Amino acid sequence: MSVRVVARIRPLLDKELGKDVIVHADRAEEGKPLTIVKIPSPKNEAEEFSFAFNGVYEMATSQEELFTAEVAPHVRSLFQGLDVTIFAYGVTGTGKTHTMRGGLKLAERGVIPRLLSNVFRRGKKIAKDSNGDTTVHVALSYYEIYNDKVFDLLESPEKRTPSGLPLREKDSKTVVVGLSERSCEDLKDFERLYIEANNNRITAATKLNAHSSGSHAILRVKVTQTTGDMVRESTASAIDLAGSEDNRRTENGKERLIESAAINKSLFVLSQCIDAISRGDKRIPYRESKMTRILSLGQNNGITIMILNLAPLRSYHLDTISSLNVSSRAKRI
Ligand code: ADP
Ligand code: MG
Repeated sequence: MSVRVVARIRPLLDKELGKDVIVHADRAEEGKPLTIVKIPSPKNEAEEFSFAFNGVYEMATSQEELFTAEVAPHVRSLFQGLDVTIFAYGVTGTGKTHTMRGGLKLAERGVIPRLLSNVFRRGKKIAKDSNGDTTVHVALSYYEIYNDKVFDLLESPEKRTPSGLPLREKDSKTVVVGLSERSCEDLKDFERLYIEANNNRITAATKLNAHSSGSHAILRVKVTQTTGDMVRESTASAIDLAGSEDNRRTENGKERLIESAAINKSLFVLSQCIDAISRGDKRIPYRESKMTRILSLGQNNGITIMILNLAPLRSYHLDTISSLNVSSRAKRI
């Protein structure tokens, strides 16, 4: 089991230029890579807090750089049979969706399309190098967890049942019962599905970010390699978590409050799981939310990469401190 926890500081948006930047990347030692995030204490400006990560990415980091450093190396492991999970954690407006999905322009593409592109390329190479002995099949599932209920995003919203899809434990993995799966041949295929599926997401405008979504979105990429009777199956999961902000400050309406109670609970359970794992506890409270059951952080034998997205602005100060607190514990897993 390996968990890597990295932080990514987003740049200022046009409308934020000139505002106060309070989050900085630093090194533990001269000449070493960036691994430290520094931020002033909210109570005493003269005091500075430092949080350690496995890696820290500064404002100027491109999508390509982040992907090449943190995700590309694990595509090989995926084809060797390991499960790979990448998730983005952070306050709404800090760059989770930008990191995972990204923009439409080639250079702005996020982790997900780049991951798929690498998976297709490697799959085709493996099939070719085997002279046709090995076939590689890629299938996608995509779903969201909203108010602790699971909804299939590859099905049209009219087909949703109010209670959502049930979960079940199978071979020590948590599976969603009745989730659809679509075969995918290439990046074009994927993009068509992905755009269509994203339109099926539940979205609600919040005061913080009109484009935010109060649900966790989970994409599963199942890779099946078949050579004669031998079948090797592994899964890459890419997760865009709902915002971790303190909803008391966003003055949400009633519906958003119910929603945010569910988000806060699942993110709270996530932080408890992280605490329990980093303490070496035997009992980890996975089962207390659907998101943590699905994530099964620390339970599988695969590779997990947690990306903490941060906005460098003072207006995010308290939320930034609280997400730094959660994630720097995650590093000890
Ligand atoms: P979240 O999903 O965490 O709510 P978004 O990904 O929607 O945040 O990002 C908020 C805004 O910041 C968006 O306009 C997005 O395009 C922009 N943004 C985030 N990260 C970056 C980045 N690394 N470079 C440029 N723009 C970014
Ligand atoms: Mg988002």
